[in-house]
Amino acid sequence: MFYDVIIIGAGPGGLACATAAASHGLTTLVVERKKTLGRKVCAGGITWNGLLKKIPFDISEKQFAKQQVFTRFQQICVSSPTPIIATVNREKLGQKMALQAVQAGVEIRLGYQVISIDSQNLLCEDRATGKKEQLTFTSLVGADGSSSLVRRALGLAISDIGIGINYQVPGDYPEMQWHLDSSLFANGYAWVFPHRDTASIGAYVDSKRMKASILKTNLLTWGDKYGYPLRRHKASAELINFDFRGWHFGNIFLVGDAAGLASGLTGEGIYPAIVSGETVGHFLADPHYDTTPLRNLIKNQAIHRKMVTLTGKNRILATLVAEIVTFCLRTKALNFSSIEMAH
Ligand SMILES: Cc1cc2nc3c(=O)[nH]c(=O)nc-3n(C[C@H](O)[C@H](O)[C@H](O)COP(=O)(O)OP(=O)(O)OC[C@H]3O[C@@H](n4cnc5c(N)ncnc54)[C@H](O)[C@@H]3O)c2cc1C
Repeated sequence: MFYDVIIIGAGPGGLACATAAASHGLTTLVVERKKTLGRKVCAGGITWNGLLKKIPFDISEKQFAKQQVFTRFQQICVSSPTPIIATVNREKLGQKMALQAVQAGVEIRLGYQVISIDSQNLLCEDRATGKKEQLTFTSLVGADGSSSLVRRALGLAISDIGIGINYQVPGDYPEMQWHLDSSLFANGYAWVFPHRDTASIGAYVDSKRMKASILKTNLLTWGDKYGYPLRRHKASAELINFDFRGWHFGNIFLVGDAAGLASGLTGEGIYPAIVSGETVGHFLADPHYDTTPLRNLIKNQAIHRKMVTLTGKNRILATLVAEIVTFCLRTKALNFSSIEMAH
């Protein structure tokens, strides 16, 4: 079968791209290997700017006007008249975005794994029946996450990648917390992001600084210290690609984590996936489309990446930067929104 646009991956990047492309009348197919939409290892934190700009407000679970920040030497509470961060349920976000895509005319195939790609065709397999099918496209979009097959087919290596570990813990957690303890998390951090009846409790670090197994051990030690019952629950982990090397390669495009557009500093990737997906979707129909939002995102992402390189040099530097940033947040010399990708 032939399509103007085939998008691999029904995450936020792929679905945003599909809706935009189909809104211009392009025949658009999304191929997703999972059977269910939206399931993803994720803390579901969306900065208020990002949420209001790109994500339907009604899928937010909890909103926080206060952020508790802990470092080795300080504990502060940052507050603002309006919420700073909200949490979203990834399944609900996936379903909502998929509905919008289908209403725009997109075809979505769930349970289809793409196995191989060339410049005009791809081979995919229906995972339920094992049946293989060849599909032909004018443009291909890799929205297939941090281990992107499309990116590999383009021969683009990944050297900058973060590790995120998440525990979804049942219970009512009142506070959103950030723990920047370089003795446990190097230049990364641990978080508590409360959802409706659970909390995402986890940690993120640049993989060059720490192995996943050590991050997990340190997260459990930290959890014991603060009384979080992590040992009773199952951990999930995934990589977060922040090695951006371009988004447009002839008739092949990369968006979101596949492009390496997540923040290397915070691991924030939902907003970058949506902005890059949307921009590419419009660009496919109109090469004169204004790509400023994507260019701004790329600039922010590069700043975050430089900060990761700087703070990754050694733990003293990581501690120093964490303490200075926290002090500046406390004295309001720095606004929390300056670390947002939607900034
Ligand atoms: C522990 C953790 C916590 C995080 N917390 C946050 C947070 O609080 N806030 C935030 O903004 N970001 C967070 N992120 C990052 C965020 O989850 C990602 O950046 C975001 O999901 C990227 O969206 P995407 O559409 O690019 O890719 P994804 O959401 O990864 O979607 C890619 C899709 O492609 C599909 N796919 C892959 N290969 C194939 C194939 N061969 N064939 C068919 N389908 C395929 C996958 O099944 C998947 O559904 C976190 C990540 C982790 C690991």
